[in-house]
Amino acid sequence: MDRAKIEQAVRLLLEGIGEDPDREGLRETPRRVADFYSEVIAEEPRDLSSLVVDIGSDTHQELVLVRDIVFHSLCEHHLTPFFGKAHVAYIPSRNGRITGISKIVRLVQVAAARLQLQERLTSTIADTLIKSLDPEGVLVLIEAEHLCMSMRGVRVPGSRVVTSAVRGIFRTNPATRAEVLALIEAHES
Ligand code: ZN
Repeated sequence: MDRAKIEQAVRLLLEGIGEDPDREGLRETPRRVADFYSEVIAEEPRDLSSLVVDIGSDTHQELVLVRDIVFHSLCEHHLTPFFGKAHVAYIPSRNGRITGISKIVRLVQVAAARLQLQERLTSTIADTLIKSLDPEGVLVLIEAEHLCMSMRGVRVPGSRVVTSAVRGIFRTNPATRAEVLALIEAHES
């Protein structure tokens, strides 16, 4: 990450919106913004599936659901935050390849820690789990508020965008899909 470039760009941005980048309150802003981006943009591993360690050997072949994974991301269209919760479900492969719950949480947070689109974040999480665990099925549901919409009044503040990515048995078997959606919703009430 090129911090000097970020600082230059923020100075220009401030000038562009009619501010004086040298006034007291703004003098440190370019540096602070550079700090901010270096904290919230992850040094991404080339292959996200390396985050999902297969702890195998288990014969558990029933649903695993991790609900309410809090994440923060940046909309790549507006460079503003979107944030919310991800719910990730999978049914392990027949030979029972599973991963730790904390690995799934980490996958969501690392996949979010970059310029993103909610749709791509959702499918990236699903496809990474397919790649690393070869499960029978994966369902990822993300609910998020986008400041680029709520601050501009395109949506009411607090309203959420919901996206899902459905793979394998959750796609082909409506009863299995309904079961997991009910489990996710159960707790919303
Ligand atoms: Zn946006």
